[in-house]
Amino acid sequence: MQTMSGLFDLTGRVALVTGSSRGIGNALARGLADAGATVVLNGINAERLEAARQAAAADYTEGKVHSLAFDVTDATAAAEGIAWVEKNVGPLDVLVNNAGIQHRVPMLDLDVEDWDRVITTNLTSAFLVGREAARHMIPRGQGKIINICSVQTDLARPTIAPYVAAKGGLRNLTRAMTAEWASSGLQINGIAPGYIHTEMTQKLVDDADFNSWILGRTPANRWGTVADLAGPTVWLASQASNFVNGQTIFVDGGMTVVV
Ligand code: NAP
Repeated sequence: MQTMSGLFDLTGRVALVTGSSRGIGNALARGLADAGATVVLNGINAERLEAARQAAAADYTEGKVHSLAFDVTDATAAAEGIAWVEKNVGPLDVLVNNAGIQHRVPMLDLDVEDWDRVITTNLTSAFLVGREAARHMIPRGQGKIINICSVQTDLARPTIAPYVAAKGGLRNLTRAMTAEWASSGLQINGIAPGYIHTEMTQKLVDDADFNSWILGRTPANRWGTVADLAGPTVWLASQASNFVNGQTIFVDGGMTVVV
């Protein structure tokens, strides 16, 4: 009989987390490893990635932590990256599309190159890497894809138009993937973090006015931590979520349910 803890157990599963050399992705990879998964870290900066691999490898049993540098916006690199994981680590069970960037400029001053860069990194990448993962998962009749969205999946703010557009698109890409791949045994869901204290948001944490706005705007009255995201990620990566399809779970201290 399946036990409750067994439902969440990821022992023997292989998980790739894009953009996991630091920040949220790194914490999600470690959360998956804590639940038993063998994890593959990813980023572009090879030196930073290797440092992250070494740090994680020291905390887990041998062979549990791998890394592969590739650019998630490059279709060929994405295909080669997934093929490398399948050949050298094992059949991919879990893909977390986490790599993302931010660019803050009022829309009237926004260059199309910067618009494209943010859309490509935050949205097109999930299509490119997700499609390659699904090509391997579908014949096996199982697989989990988790797309890391944002409160900007639902809510806009000034100066971050391409980010808002990309994260809104990512929620509907999650639904589109579900429409095409759920009948093949895949579950594709999103996690939408609230304001999480990482390198990406350090400037905002240091800005006294913004910081006090965040605390007032968040019912939980605090910034999120990367640890807050690990449990929902393990749930969506595990058998415990086998009938959860196409949803985006907001992990935001309640920000998106109040005005
Ligand atoms: P971060 O600390 O800036 O880390 C970004 C990661 O993505 C790094 O590992 C970076 O690799 C990687 N990356 C960027 N472009 C890439 C590319 N083209 N190919 C491969 N890897 C790439 O960011 P974060 O704050 O942890 O955010 C992670 C995700 O969570 C993003 O999707 C973000 O939108 C989302 N999110 C963040 C917050 C928040 O409050 N922080 C809230 C909601 C959603 P390198 O080290 O090589 O640059």
